[in-house]
Amino acid sequence: MSRTLNADLHCHSVVSDGTLTPEELAARAKANGVQLWALTDHDEVGGQDRAITAAQSHSMRYLTGTEISVTFAGVTVHIVGLGFDHHNERLVAGLKGTRGGREARAREMAEELAKVGIPGAFEGALKYVDNMELISRTHFARYIVEAGHCSDTNEVFRKYLADGKPGFVPHRWAKLSDALDWIHGAGGLAVIAHPARYSFTANEEYALFTEFKALGGAGVEVQTSAHNASEVVKYAEFCREFDLYASRGCDFHSPEESRCDLGSLPELPAKVTPIWERLEDKMH
Ligand code: AMP
Ligand code: MN
Ligand code: MN
Ligand code: MN
Repeated sequence: MSRTLNADLHCHSVVSDGTLTPEELAARAKANGVQLWALTDHDEVGGQDRAITAAQSHSMRYLTGTEISVTFAGVTVHIVGLGFDHHNERLVAGLKGTRGGREARAREMAEELAKVGIPGAFEGALKYVDNMELISRTHFARYIVEAGHCSDTNEVFRKYLADGKPGFVPHRWAKLSDALDWIHGAGGLAVIAHPARYSFTANEEYALFTEFKALGGAGVEVQTSAHNASEVVKYAEFCREFDLYASRGCDFHSPEESRCDLGSLPELPAKVTPIWERLEDKMH
């Protein structure tokens, strides 16, 4: 398993906030030259059996995946789990608990959005939701574009849904230690997703990496659509400093919304060790 393997270990289906089915994603990944794939729906493993079957039908290697929403130092952090047993009871129950508060949060978001001139957002967002437990800001963003308040979903996040904006409702997700326990208990490895996206000070970021490593965390996304070239270099350095493996995944959600397609990220930098070298025995 080399560093140059075309691995794409982060994307979303209709089971969370993507717009394609697991089967459509598998076909797209294969067409784009992906050799090792993982579907990582938010807080959910309901698409894993379909993804495994679809990957096998394309003779593409597959790792089970999920992206767990965690609150660390008051900030939402995403932890990707890879190569676990997706039937593990504690993992399945932990993810279900994490999904629990989304409907109430969504209703509150809709109330706040109504106050700034966007009525009916809960019902509007629902039109885009396949899995009610996973109603997310992404579904609201799609509706707000449809209703003509913004021209694309990035603008919606910028104006309405990012932390501090009128439609943002703070939410308490899983604890970092619980997320890692669930992943490890199911035999998988944990990876810090898109680290450059978080609004941490340098000290807070150091604390996240230190605690993650102490809890047995294994890797960090170095190549992701959220990182520019200097951020790739920065997190490759973090791999060395914290003795972590590097991961690669484009975080694909939709052909219309995602700038980076499955399998199209640059290779990992030369000096890091790919996390898939530790996961060969977990591949389907
Ligand atoms: P939630 O889990 O409901 O808080 O929604 C988080 C999701 O919103 C992420 O997984 C992304 O898909 C999407 N998202 C977050 N920030 C942005 C942004 N600035 N632009 C576009 N999508 C975003
Ligand atoms: Mn998402
Ligand atoms: Mn994420
Ligand atoms: Mn993601």
